[in-house]
Amino acid sequence: MSAITLYARRTDGFEARLARTVAALQAAAEQHPGRVVQSTSLGAEDMVLTDLIARHKLPIDIGTLETGKLHAETSALIPRIVERYGVTVEVYRPVAESVVHFVRKHGEKAMYESIDLRKNCCAIRKLEPLSRMLAGRDAWITGLRREQSNNRGDVPLSEIDDKGRTKFNPLAEWTWNDVWHYIATNDVPYNPLHDEFMPSIGCAPCTRAIAVGEDFRAGRWWWEDEKAKECGLHVKDQPAVSMIGATA
Ligand code: SF4
Repeated sequence: MSAITLYARRTDGFEARLARTVAALQAAAEQHPGRVVQSTSLGAEDMVLTDLIARHKLPIDIGTLETGKLHAETSALIPRIVERYGVTVEVYRPVAESVVHFVRKHGEKAMYESIDLRKNCCAIRKLEPLSRMLAGRDAWITGLRREQSNNRGDVPLSEIDDKGRTKFNPLAEWTWNDVWHYIATNDVPYNPLHDEFMPSIGCAPCTRAIAVGEDFRAGRWWWEDEKAKECGLHVKDQPAVSMIGATA
């Protein structure tokens, strides 16, 4: 059964939430001309935001992290966005030398061995490339929603990150039903893995399908405690992590 069939529902207040999202995107573009980027994970929420940015012709750049560990279905969305919307997608990859060194020292399955190694893998494949995406920019846009997890329960519509940049979370108040209602009514392209019970999709080794009744992010780093389950992209006050020769 498709994600649209399962989740797309129009619920009370949707139009008002959509209007606030569009207003937040317009404010981001107006307040940070030429210096704001949507950091897209290519997940359902981010596809909604990319559609809105393109639909309203907002001068907001679009960037993504190609970690080298994405599912083929996820990577395939990059050319689909370009084709569908006629926009450029900036693709940021990890430093090859850092990846080779880490894998040589810790192996391809290091992320399962300890939280430190998993976080070091995320630092090399996600955090360092994100820092390049955000360099020279003073605002970014994410698809975070309060409903996604307890850790995200108080996500504001905008905030200041630990580098002083404005971080817009225009979907903060959206429900999962809202996301799929928008996708269904606007024919937004989406990752077919969402049809296979993967609501939250990250790198292939760190994502699995969820069972009925499990939490939204239960399929991400499922072997770890709930509190550890962030890759660091949206966590303030990150400890310094070496990019090469990660700690064991
Ligand atoms: S999500 Fe997994 S594979 Fe991707 S960077 Fe983090 S630990 Fe590495």
